[in-house]
Amino acid sequence: MSRTRSYRCLNCLDHAVTRSFDTSHLSMTCPNCGSFERFANEAVIERFESLEASPPAEFDWERLERREKLLVAERLARRDKALDDFDVAVDEEAAGGPAEGADPKASDA
Ligand SMILES: [Zn+2]
Repeated sequence: MSRTRSYRCLNCLDHAVTRSFDTSHLSMTCPNCGSFERFANEAVIERFESLEASPPAEFDWERLERREKLLVAERLARRDKALDDFDVAVDEEAAGGPAEGADPKASDA
């Protein structure tokens, strides 16, 4: 796979990184603004920019903060894509619950 995606810092919108995989976003420390930030897929940024150009009537787009707008754009962009393109989460937010049917502990040997 030689295809690459760029991801842009949602804090400064000024720094982009390139990765060889396609996911909705990364979470990493931005070397430009120094903040630990979400880096959004280029498709999300494109969606954000098109929403800025023509705000949707369904909600008060102009009242949203930039970060909220970007999260909306991310959801919309993801819906457009095949879900398979976005099944990899690259951040560390996996909050684990206890798995059902865990293997039995302390079984006799
Ligand atoms: Zn940044």
